[in-house]
Amino acid sequence: MVSKDVRSPAALIPSLDKVLRSRVLVSVTKKYGLDLTTSILREIMEDLRSRILAGEEISKDVSMIAISEEASRRLKALTTPSLKTVLNLTGTVLHTNLGRAPLPIEALDAMVDVAKGASNLEYDLLTGGRGQRDDHLSDLICRLTGAEAACAVNNNAAAVLLILNTFAFGREVLVSRGELVEIGGAFRIPDIMSQAGAVLREVGTTNRTNEGDYESAINENTALIMKVHTSNFEIRGFTASVSEAKLAQIAHRHKLPVIVDLGSGSLVDFSADNIPKEVTVRESFQNSIDLICFSGDKLIGGPQAGFIAGSASMVKKINANPMKRAMRLDKIRIAGLMAVLQLYLNPETLPARLPALRLITRKYEDIKSMAHAIYPAISDSLNKLARVEVIDCNSQIGSGALPVDLLPSAGLSIKPLFEEKKNKTARSKALNQIAENFRKLPVPIIGKLNNGAIVLDLRCLENPNTLTDQLPELRRMFGVDL
Ligand SMILES: *Cc1c(COP(=O)(O)O)cnc(C)c1O
Repeated sequence: MVSKDVRSPAALIPSLDKVLRSRVLVSVTKKYGLDLTTSILREIMEDLRSRILAGEEISKDVSMIAISEEASRRLKALTTPSLKTVLNLTGTVLHTNLGRAPLPIEALDAMVDVAKGASNLEYDLLTGGRGQRDDHLSDLICRLTGAEAACAVNNNAAAVLLILNTFAFGREVLVSRGELVEIGGAFRIPDIMSQAGAVLREVGTTNRTNEGDYESAINENTALIMKVHTSNFEIRGFTASVSEAKLAQIAHRHKLPVIVDLGSGSLVDFSADNIPKEVTVRESFQNSIDLICFSGDKLIGGPQAGFIAGSASMVKKINANPMKRAMRLDKIRIAGLMAVLQLYLNPETLPARLPALRLITRKYEDIKSMAHAIYPAISDSLNKLARVEVIDCNSQIGSGALPVDLLPSAGLSIKPLFEEKKNKTARSKALNQIAENFRKLPVPIIGKLNNGAIVLDLRCLENPNTLTDQLPELRRMFGVDL
């Protein structure tokens, strides 16, 4: 008989069979099922074996209790959604990484309703024959933009790809060098162009492009002229670009279509509500643009989508491209988009009913008084850990809408109490620790790191309880006694 101390470390790991028969595992197996629990246990055993091979000390992790707890932890992570709501206190209202536009209740209701069962997605209730899924949206888009026809796809990147593939496959597309943008992620105009099978013909220079540049680039292989909204930057100084109207004149003189990738796209001029002016889709059509594409989830404030609107014959060709089928919208998003577009039918009530616009137009005074109202609770909770201050800050719309225009806002600045030590590493560690604990809350709070502080811009916090209700949990995380 071998004594305990000289057994090989691998022998410390109990057999799968033994673990499964253990009483501590009964409730776990019952909750998650035998198959799933067994496969998770196998993974745990495998990890323990690798750790032994790596020379790690694992004796604490091989008890039945430890194994059962690890199994519960992994099973819970596996069976709860990883995608969840967070509080966007970054100051960027339409934050791409945080899911862009919050949806209005009208859209949520419509989406849930249609998701529950069968719908007339592609079914004509009048004739009993086949219908088109885009019909649910196209009339509304036309009414709101003045377009002749419209269709919708998965997102605006898909819209650009589809337009180029339909009208410029194997042919040249003229784009100003000042508009060869990267929108973040993998959307770069030159790359989209080549993937669509079109040949990019750069025109002009980075800061200046004039009419003659377009004129001299046109040849027998030119398919179209494209204008791209410079969504996320602005070129200042010695600059020149050709207006939509002028571009349309040049294109039409050569019997070419002109298309605009508007990016964010706006259906209504809200400059009266203190939103800086963005060209509306309707205005672009008044400049004789043939086809315009824009996003559904940027300034429009709906679910993710890309709209293509304009000339009826061009939209017809797009609908006939087999690629369209690969980019089509599902019933849930069509339902949500329809509800959002219907809110636009009454622009006066829009800022109150459409959350994205409500947040963008929220008044500085309102945000500031909310900051003062929640300041004491947060300051108390972080007592001894950080200095909290009410501050003025600037929000931005985000997603490339009006990139250089800032919205005056207010919030809280949280600085770790480390400054006296002037130790940079310790200070940034403390700062990151606070930010990490905010992110670990049941409804994670996402702020912005700025100048050694975490700034919580309160523009997008409509219900302060979602923040203050979590403060006890935050204090528990920091190990502060309640
Ligand atoms: C955002 C943007 C896109 C991509 O739109 P998505 O809806 O995110 O796919 C394309 N072009 C421009 C100019 C944009 O601003």
